[in-house]
Amino acid sequence: MRIALCASEAVPFAKTGGLADVAGALPLALENLGQDVIIIMPAYKTIQNLTKDISCSIIGKNIKVYFIENDKYFNRDGLYGDKNGDYKDNLDRFSYYCKKTLELLKQINFKADIIHIHDWQAALIPVYLEKLYQKDNFYKDIKTLLTIHNIGYQGLFAKEEFPKLGLDWSLFNMECFEFYGKINLLKAGIVFSDIINTVSPTYSKEIQTKDFGYGLEGVLNKRKGWLFGILNGLDYTIRNPESDKFIAQNYSKENIEDKYKNKENLQKLCKLPVNLGVPLFGIVSRLAEQKGFDILAQGIEEICRRDLQLVILGTGDQKYYNILGDIAKKYPKVISLHLKFDESLAHNIYAGSDIFLMPSKYEPCGLGQMISLRYGTIPLVFKTGGLADTVNSDNGFVFQRYSKEDLIKAIDRAAKAYKSKDKWRKVALQAMGYNFSWEESGKKYIELYEKAKGR
Ligand code: ADP
Repeated sequence: MRIALCASEAVPFAKTGGLADVAGALPLALENLGQDVIIIMPAYKTIQNLTKDISCSIIGKNIKVYFIENDKYFNRDGLYGDKNGDYKDNLDRFSYYCKKTLELLKQINFKADIIHIHDWQAALIPVYLEKLYQKDNFYKDIKTLLTIHNIGYQGLFAKEEFPKLGLDWSLFNMECFEFYGKINLLKAGIVFSDIINTVSPTYSKEIQTKDFGYGLEGVLNKRKGWLFGILNGLDYTIRNPESDKFIAQNYSKENIEDKYKNKENLQKLCKLPVNLGVPLFGIVSRLAEQKGFDILAQGIEEICRRDLQLVILGTGDQKYYNILGDIAKKYPKVISLHLKFDESLAHNIYAGSDIFLMPSKYEPCGLGQMISLRYGTIPLVFKTGGLADTVNSDNGFVFQRYSKEDLIKAIDRAAKAYKSKDKWRKVALQAMGYNFSWEESGKKYIELYEKAKGR
């Protein structure tokens, strides 16, 4: 099958979040599964610094990556905004990207079976395909799949900007672009794509409810027969305790005891008392309410009074810097706080902690829990989205009511379980055996492409 993957960011060219990981890794899996894949993304400044020929690059064996060029729109430091917020011309920028992407397919004569669209930045593609390009025979049989990585980001713009899209005003209605008086690009993408999916089965159901849908539950509900969920995979070439270059001591299921050398190293790195008997909790996360920092902040003082240690690595909301900063000063032997982005420390936390805390309020897929499992570090999560699909009572600790009290109870359960050394070892070994590979996810995406083709 010929697949054109369209995303506003992809590893290794440009990244602000998980979308880039998916857009960079899924094509590699698809290529290994015998599919013909290309990637089309904007030619940001970072890319101009990366490769000489910015019209096209190659990843994997022969996956061509095409960059849509426009200096005025894309030759900037940020992808979507700067310190003053979102760029004011994001609608111009991404509607341009969508139109040019469709034109590029014809120029390079890539007769795609499927255009695989990601998030709001690319969501105009199915609309343009149907409204502007359908008359051209070249585009006639192309089907579309829209993947939603986080429904919280929809691409909202003022109604007055609608003429910029080059579409008939009649499309600005409640069944299509209109959303509480604004333009909603993701909504139009949902309406016009052949198939839609999110990055975990549970999240695909959750977003059809008021609590999780961010206002799009109604339109998603209408399309529920064509809405699916596929878990993201993990890049096991990077996420592997046997070969991880960042950690103090490599280990595997065969010598899991060596994991404790990483714990000792982490305690030293974090200036915590070196003590293998105390349960060590780790967090690597954006410091945001979505990631559970509201209930964590409410309970942090109680948590710090317990016999445990907690290492937090993250960047995000100032509010949490302040709360956690004060607590870290008060309990220096319990909590070690690192307010930065640090790849090396992140690997050391995954390897050296006993328990990985990820109490997200909502979580489309989540990587942290899958990474920690691979390192034999037991995840503790709230039962939501991708966390509910990957963590259960066999491989982790799950709490079901989103509250400070239930989080603390789960922490107590984990701390108690840690004391039964033999049982803990068994769970850790089992955790290390889980496999969330891109190959499996790739196969599921191919099934969806086939479904779309049959539509
Ligand atoms: P998100 O919603 O932020 O994309 P995920 O769990 O899907 O959450 O992925 C977050 C990724 O970013 C993980 O690989 C995590 O280890 C990494 N990460 C988050 N914060 C930091 C940080 N401060 N330093 C290093 N890595 C981080």
